[in-house]
Amino acid sequence: MYNYPISEAARSTLAREIFGHVIDGQVVPSLDGRTMDIVDPARGESVARAALGGEADVDRAVASSRKAFDDGTWRLLDPQDKERRLRRMSQLLLERRDEVAELDVIDAGLLRWYVDFTVDFAANGIDYYSGWPTKINGSIPPAPPNFSVRQERIPIGVIGLITPWNGPISVFGSVAAALATGNSVILKPAEQTPMTAVLMAEIAFEAGIPPGAFNVLQGPGSSVGAALVAHRGVDAISFTGSVPTGSAIQAAASKRVKRVSLELGGKSAFIVFPDADIEAAAAASQMAVWGTSGQVCTAGSRVLVHSSIKDQFLAAVLKGTEGMNIGSGFDPSTQLGPVVSSEQLERVSSYVQIGRDEGATVASGGSRLDIPGYFHEPTVFTGVTNDMRIAQEEIFGPVMAILEFEDEAEAVQIANDTDYGLAAGVWTSDLDTSQRVSAALHAGTVWINSYQMVYPSVSYGGVKLSGHGRNLGAASIDELTQIKSVWTKTGDAR
Ligand code: ADP
Repeated sequence: MYNYPISEAARSTLAREIFGHVIDGQVVPSLDGRTMDIVDPARGESVARAALGGEADVDRAVASSRKAFDDGTWRLLDPQDKERRLRRMSQLLLERRDEVAELDVIDAGLLRWYVDFTVDFAANGIDYYSGWPTKINGSIPPAPPNFSVRQERIPIGVIGLITPWNGPISVFGSVAAALATGNSVILKPAEQTPMTAVLMAEIAFEAGIPPGAFNVLQGPGSSVGAALVAHRGVDAISFTGSVPTGSAIQAAASKRVKRVSLELGGKSAFIVFPDADIEAAAAASQMAVWGTSGQVCTAGSRVLVHSSIKDQFLAAVLKGTEGMNIGSGFDPSTQLGPVVSSEQLERVSSYVQIGRDEGATVASGGSRLDIPGYFHEPTVFTGVTNDMRIAQEEIFGPVMAILEFEDEAEAVQIANDTDYGLAAGVWTSDLDTSQRVSAALHAGTVWINSYQMVYPSVSYGGVKLSGHGRNLGAASIDELTQIKSVWTKTGDAR
């Protein structure tokens, strides 16, 4: 039995025999019957089982998606009807919000308030993309005499959507984007968090998305994910996850010259100038690293503070960090939850050791907790220099590295001296400083006097090793469509 009160709906969903693949509108086990454990990271215990797919399951899902695409049951539907069904999808999601949120708290170990935010984020994304089907215009370019040419904007085909475990339901907006552009979608959620993918598919079918237009495949990335990337019947891959996996996917996809969109990791600089609102910056810096136990691509894990305010800033951070409530995401007083798995806990611990070995100072925390589940103390390092591994490598855990700078040029130089380029934060009360620094930063997103704002109409993505391609906004519509030029010989129309 679960320790925290959860809704009847979540309880009965959790009691399902298996969280299967979803193929052609049916929740199905793997053809060979293999399954995998679903572990609650707050307790370190298995709570349910999911299908563990193999190549035959991938073949089955791809055949279904191809057929749905080629038949045109979704692709060729009246655009207004597409919009109505997508809108219904977000309504149904919100009607089941408690069930969905509770399952994600159990599956990913995230805090309930954060999961509530990801449900809203998903619903907002679906609403935003539900407005697009009637607005995806082609164009008419200048053409030689006696010809008329129309450039149609058409779907790509079958899109493989491969996603991580740090916000399982939040990818529903990306599913909606791929559907809004007329594609078929195969979602491969992370093997650590398979549960709500099944609910997304059920909600989609109930909203009127035809079977096969949205399928789900469960299983490890190295087998199921890789088979999806290599499959001849999959036309493009949209991936969010780590750099090594993204790089391997790009290489594998190149064999069939597939379009790939990669949203990878980050080592985002959070820069605090002396004229900033220091209390506000310190509060935001903590939210940016502790909010999901550091398991978010835009974690502001490199905090750059001007030397003149470093003591004041550190004091404000330590005040918030020490005595933080650590525990289950269901407990409303919890401020820091677990990390997702025992492997992730090992990774965080090993980086904390690396930081110590490199000569950085542990100003707070530094240890894993000796309780059931995968918990690590919020850990603040000071005396960090940018050449240290804890300043260069993505840890994906509750670890903040504080670096000092003397002037604006040095802040920009440190911020850009990284292989990543996902996001950055700039805290200053001077407008000119904010504009100069944001212009100089190599990052896909810059937040000024704020951090981690997202909105469905605003594109999101990285530069350098943080990837290419953009999620959200109109940019996704471009990513998910291609242009077909149709020439008509008109005779002499003059
Ligand atoms: P993490 O974010 O846990 O470090 P990854 O970036 O490897 O992990 O995982 C993100 C997603 O990519 C998951 O859904 C995972 O199953 C999938 N994945 C992992 N390896 C591959 C691969 N070689 N090909 C395709 N997908 C993969």
